[in-house]
Amino acid sequence: MAEKRDYYEVLGVQKGASDDEIKKAYRKLAKQYHPDLNKDNPDAAEKFKEIGEAYGVLSDSEKRARYDQFGHAGVDPNYGAGGGGGYGGFGDFDMGDLGDIFGSFFGGGFGGGQRRNGPRKGQDIQQYITLSFEEAAFGCTKKITVNKSENCDACGGTGAKAGTSPETCPTCHGSGQVRQVQQTPLGQFQTTSTCRTCGGSGKVIKEPCQKCNGSGRVRVQKSIDIKVPAGIDDGQTISARGQGEAGSRGGPNGDLFVTVNIKPHKIFRRDGNNVHLEVPITFVQAALGCELEIPTLDGPVKYKIPEGTQNGDQFRFRGKGIASVRTGVRGDQYVKVNVEVPKNLTSRQREILAQFAEESNEKNYNKGRKFKDIIKDYFNK
Ligand SMILES: [Zn+2]
Ligand SMILES: [Zn+2]
Repeated sequence: MAEKRDYYEVLGVQKGASDDEIKKAYRKLAKQYHPDLNKDNPDAAEKFKEIGEAYGVLSDSEKRARYDQFGHAGVDPNYGAGGGGGYGGFGDFDMGDLGDIFGSFFGGGFGGGQRRNGPRKGQDIQQYITLSFEEAAFGCTKKITVNKSENCDACGGTGAKAGTSPETCPTCHGSGQVRQVQQTPLGQFQTTSTCRTCGGSGKVIKEPCQKCNGSGRVRVQKSIDIKVPAGIDDGQTISARGQGEAGSRGGPNGDLFVTVNIKPHKIFRRDGNNVHLEVPITFVQAALGCELEIPTLDGPVKYKIPEGTQNGDQFRFRGKGIASVRTGVRGDQYVKVNVEVPKNLTSRQREILAQFAEESNEKNYNKGRKFKDIIKDYFNK
């Protein structure tokens, strides 16, 4: 008889592991080695039993204490007695718990917990839409096409031909699951699995509805209007309750989630609810001041650039930004000025600028300090 592995080692946890850690480790391994998921791996069933056995002991504080003190002999009276596989020591281990695990991991495809039979919310649907900068800023309504299931109107979702109704499954008597007791060298195992006759619904259909072939559902293509609120930002999601897949057995429909993707604007840049714009002006405009028509989301606005504007100066237009989705209050628009230095001067322009330099004696440059003073400070520091 092969040496039995340490239970802690089987679950891959430390000896002092908390109940929670043990449970987590067990759930993870049980999912990994579940025989339904490992049809091609003959060792999985053995492994699965070993995991179940380890968990059966370590999840029970009394057995765990005995195991910690006496090892396998503490929880299995036949251990080491040369009994050749009579591991009757811990009795039944109900695998029904796994139904729950599989219910939550795989949407009910495995195992068969009780919820299989009850009302079930439909699956959610995720879709994406692309909006222009303005559509996002001001809100809009977008039509989207969704392929989804709906309850069949011919049979009212029951799947049974009109005038008939589904009958209680004779195999599972309506519970949707069957229990099997297995005798193994490790003792008696009770497993719960989905009833094959009815597929877990607890009902069988004698005469299926012709429209939906007995499924109770039909695939439909629906056009849905999505109201996009003003101010929605890139990556945000709009939810439309009840617009997802149809629920089953009287459960509610799933929801539809629409995530938006916003196209960048040619000139505006968005930062939260504020809008940024850069405008080029000539150095003459910057020096003398000028009136410009500044583009905003609401159209051009006249603005007086003051005399002596510096490169990088920023002006704020209050309330010309994007509305907050929550409060509706609009952000601001910031306008940054880029002063352009002229290139390719004509000889006359060159002459004028030289005169300008002479006239100003460069005294206005570098905030009133002469360039040579700066150089002097640089070397004397
Ligand atoms: Zn139908
Ligand atoms: Zn059944």
